[in-house]
Amino acid sequence: MASIEVGILGATGQVGQQFVALLTHHPWFRVAWLGASERSAGKPYREATAWRLPALLTDSVGRLKVQAAAPAGAPKLVFSGLDSSVAGDIEAAFAQAGHIVVSNSRNYRMEATVPLLIPEVNADHLALLAAQGAATGWKGRIVTNPNCAVVVLAMALAPLRQFGLKKTMITTLQAISGAGYPGVPSWDILGNVIPFIGGGEEEKIETETNKILGAVKSGRVENHPVTVSAAVTRVPVHNGHTGSIAVALEQQPDLDTIIDAWNSFRGKPQELGLPSAPPQPIVYLTEQNRPQPALDANRDDGMTVTVGRLRRCPVLGYKFAALGHNTIRGAAGAAILNAELMHREGLL
Ligand code: NAP
Repeated sequence: MASIEVGILGATGQVGQQFVALLTHHPWFRVAWLGASERSAGKPYREATAWRLPALLTDSVGRLKVQAAAPAGAPKLVFSGLDSSVAGDIEAAFAQAGHIVVSNSRNYRMEATVPLLIPEVNADHLALLAAQGAATGWKGRIVTNPNCAVVVLAMALAPLRQFGLKKTMITTLQAISGAGYPGVPSWDILGNVIPFIGGGEEEKIETETNKILGAVKSGRVENHPVTVSAAVTRVPVHNGHTGSIAVALEQQPDLDTIIDAWNSFRGKPQELGLPSAPPQPIVYLTEQNRPQPALDANRDDGMTVTVGRLRRCPVLGYKFAALGHNTIRGAAGAAILNAELMHREGLL
């Protein structure tokens, strides 16, 4: 029986719906509270949200009345899929009031005492929480997960740190669900590619990656020195961000050694058997035309990053393609995995 009550901020949005869907049969967490804007507050969730996921919306959640995004009455553990234009103040108010906020928004990701977590890659970054209260004055805590394109890059690069990561270039092909709903107008995206995503998408890829791959030393993150260059595009794909990635390494491992490093990569979630942990977080696909979002984004309930097409690159040394589900591994599923890890580490 799920015993820990949780709330969802931004519950009516694209990521919020994914939280509801993923938490419906969660063994530990039970959705007890939903928050969104004044536009939705006071309405039953089924009315306030335009449900557009294949999973059924259950009556128990569909009937919950959406609340304004204020801490009074919310459970201690709150997931956040708030629009970043409002997440800063609202998440701080919840943390101030003693809540644990497990957030998708960009607002606090780069704060020195806020963990930017991928549990397979940097579970030890939770140590930053010890100093968060003193640095911010919050009674509660904020923990974040990366931008949805960053998670694909950082997961693919993490097993390559052992070979001496020097430089990487990524061109993304990002799904329309990454833009929220209604997102990009159909007129603009159908049959088209848009070589720009607002909100500092390229800058996020070029900074968050270094923090995630960095090491905690004396209570702070020492960023990984890899140089990251990103070019982002929006493509007419429903779900799944693809990255076309090139990388320069200090060592020159053969291709099979790199593929082995990906396939054998495991982390704390697998060791602890966390409920949302995929059995193999990175899977190398040997078919020459994979990964593809339509075929591979949902692998292991959307929590696996798939990689393929590793080959030599005449410029940087190696190149490959990687793919992850943006609203699951890149958002709601990532945050739920973070909370599962925190629960097992006694931090909730
Ligand atoms: P979205 O579909 O536009 O949903 C935004 C949510 O924020 C809605 O629930 C909305 O409530 C709420 N909201 C807006 N203004 C508010 C206000 N003034 N007060 C309280 N709530 C307010 O966006 P999304 O795609 O789910 O993204 C949510 C967050 O996750 C963003 O910060 C985004 O950058 C991040 N993220 C998204 C993805 C992705 O793939 N989509 C991946 C990673 C991270 P109403 O319905 O009541 O307006």
